[in-house]
Amino acid sequence: MRLWEEQLKIELLHLEKKTQRRRLHSIDFLNDSFIIMNGRKLLNLSSNNYLGLAGDKRLIEASIHATNKYGASSTASRLIVGNYSLYEHVETELARWKGTESALIFNSGYTANLGIISALVGRNDLVFSDKWNHASINDGIILSRAEMKRYLHNDLDHLEALLKKAPQHKRKLIVTDSVFSMDGDIAPLKGLVELKEKYGAILMVDEAHSIGVFGEGGKGLVHDIGLQEQVDVHVGTFSKSLGSFGAYVTGKQWLLDYFVNKMRSFIFTTALPPAVLGSIQAAIHIVQQESALRKQLHNYSKYFRTKLSGLGFNIGTSMTQIVPVIIGSNELTVQFSERLQERGIAAVSIRPPTVPKGTARIRFSLMATLSKDKLDWAINEIAAIGQEMRIIS
Ligand SMILES: *Cc1c(COP(=O)(O)O)cnc(C)c1O
Repeated sequence: MRLWEEQLKIELLHLEKKTQRRRLHSIDFLNDSFIIMNGRKLLNLSSNNYLGLAGDKRLIEASIHATNKYGASSTASRLIVGNYSLYEHVETELARWKGTESALIFNSGYTANLGIISALVGRNDLVFSDKWNHASINDGIILSRAEMKRYLHNDLDHLEALLKKAPQHKRKLIVTDSVFSMDGDIAPLKGLVELKEKYGAILMVDEAHSIGVFGEGGKGLVHDIGLQEQVDVHVGTFSKSLGSFGAYVTGKQWLLDYFVNKMRSFIFTTALPPAVLGSIQAAIHIVQQESALRKQLHNYSKYFRTKLSGLGFNIGTSMTQIVPVIIGSNELTVQFSERLQERGIAAVSIRPPTVPKGTARIRFSLMATLSKDKLDWAINEIAAIGQEMRIIS
């Protein structure tokens, strides 16, 4: 065996030992609520398809229509010949929905964060990032070569202390998730706006888990709180509650022009397939009208959180449709997830390094399209496993 082979294989073994080795599972889609995994029919409590739009006939039809009209591929990057007129239509509708001057669509949330952060700041600048921010934000900061200052989760005092120490002349970017993806809690957006104004920083907010879910017409958490004019760089994705794929930024036209010119993950990649743009367009229409689905999701979330914490589970600081059950040890968490599967529930274990050491958890996420009966059934099963494993009494 060559040296490099041996080294990489040892790393895999090392992960195995720490119960951190990840594996792919083949999934079949059954309907909005159920999947087939490893031959078992499972209630899906792991999906980000919060409003159940991924299987919506209107999105599917719009995808097919766009494919028929434009073909299976966009054939080039947007700055070459991939910028089909469909982009302009969808971006105009997106800007109108969000009440902004302009909107720009990207291939994914991951590449959006990589590209935006590395376009906004560089070697001599500073980025202040919540410790629990999504990995794509971290990676964007690393790529930018700016100095990363991680502040304690949602801790405005810590953030201010770091801002105070920063040289005045340096460009400063504060970046946060609006709803945190592994904890389902919410960023202190008002306080962040105050600090960014006090210290002359740029504020970037990632609404991946709040777009479609919060605010009037599903505009997101920032709109819900009325801070849309204060957030400088407003990012979100179509891959979660909108049931499609891709990401966007909304804001001033000049800033989006800047991204078109400076954002490498926008410039050097093939544009989204027309099918995706078609389903995004349908989703933008639907999500604005579906306040009943949003209401249902919030009701379920509150119910689920109340029940689980009432049973004695540690659900952390969740305030949304993302509800962690924090167990701590990797082994116990993996066992919990396996038992859930045996009883017909898909809920994956999330382990370090995705979450801090010693906080391995099951991450439940809810969908508006579940039935109340199924939800109650799931709560009973979760409780039974929790008791068997002595995680709750
Ligand atoms: C899921 C997620 C992303 C990545 O979005 P994709 O479209 O899946 O690449 C970015 N930011 C946050 C906060 C996320 O939860």
